[in-house]
Amino acid sequence: MKYLRNEPLSRHTSFKIGGPANYFCLPKSIGNIKEVLSFARQNKLKIAVIGAGSNLLAPDQGFSGLVIKIGQGLAWVKAKGDRVSVGAGVGLARLVKLGGLEFLAGIPGSVGGAVVMNAGAWGEEIGKYVEQVTVLDGAGRVKEIKRKNLGFAYRKSKLQKSRFIVAEVVFKLDRIRQRVKQEKIKEYLAKRRARHPLDRPSCGSVFKNPRGLTAGALIEAAGCQGKRIGDAQVSKKHANFIVNLGGAKAADVIKLISIVQKAVNNKFKVLLEPELKTMVQSKL
Ligand SMILES: Cc1cc2nc3c(=O)[nH]c(=O)nc-3n(C[C@H](O)[C@H](O)[C@H](O)COP(=O)(O)OP(=O)(O)OC[C@H]3O[C@@H](n4cnc5c(N)ncnc54)[C@H](O)[C@@H]3O)c2cc1C
Repeated sequence: MKYLRNEPLSRHTSFKIGGPANYFCLPKSIGNIKEVLSFARQNKLKIAVIGAGSNLLAPDQGFSGLVIKIGQGLAWVKAKGDRVSVGAGVGLARLVKLGGLEFLAGIPGSVGGAVVMNAGAWGEEIGKYVEQVTVLDGAGRVKEIKRKNLGFAYRKSKLQKSRFIVAEVVFKLDRIRQRVKQEKIKEYLAKRRARHPLDRPSCGSVFKNPRGLTAGALIEAAGCQGKRIGDAQVSKKHANFIVNLGGAKAADVIKLISIVQKAVNNKFKVLLEPELKTMVQSKL
């Protein structure tokens, strides 16, 4: 296994923010992940797991341990009837091509990250289509977990607080009746282009929508749109996005998050809960 040293995490996050990881690797198989975990144990390294890094705020000081990126190496797609087994590193754009999951079009994550986050859009969520996941624990033991034990809820799953690494996901898709609906995909992508600031690095929605409300509308009404700390700015196009204008630091984003939370709480008595994950919340 090849370990990169002092790999900038800004290269692996959609925000383009993050200092160096002491060790960084891209396993290519479940066997590789076991090997990496054993290396981490032998060298007493803390570990963090990332996928496409599209919902992550990596610290400016980097990560003093081993970052395991579940990416292109774990990228198989095996279909058998209406069951499809997919490596956790498969990109959502490829998953969408299977048919039945068009709502994911335009979400820039990996299958593993999307299942951990229970990613969704347009009233749909990926968790609904998951039959089971294959995970590894810190000791490298492989285990399968059924959907009913994954605790899917709005942008939530039990995998978020666990120390498991997701290696494979089995989806149940009605492949007999489902065709890839290209028109739907085009429509969703067009809506995203119209609403989201896709020309700047970001992590998508920063906050979860409080029940019955939209975070973007609250942030706008609290007068935070366009607010800027360093090169981090509350997007003028979509108030629930923070964009990196070039040299934003994680510290700038954190300050801006806190300013927005305070403004919304003062005006509406609603505490916005972040949707984005920091590496500290990851698998340490
Ligand atoms: C422009 C833009 C638009 C977006 N739109 C949406 C949207 O409409 N809906 C939505 O839900 N999200 C959206 N997102 C957020 C993001 O794309 C999703 O949350 C995505 O599913 C995250 O996947 P990832 O692979 O990038 O995960 P990462 O950001 O790499 O990781 C997210 C979390 O999952 C953990 N994790 C990742 N992979 C694994 C693994 N294999 N095993 C164990 N833990 C893992 C990480 O430790 C971290 O805690 C958007 C982001 C951007 C930048």
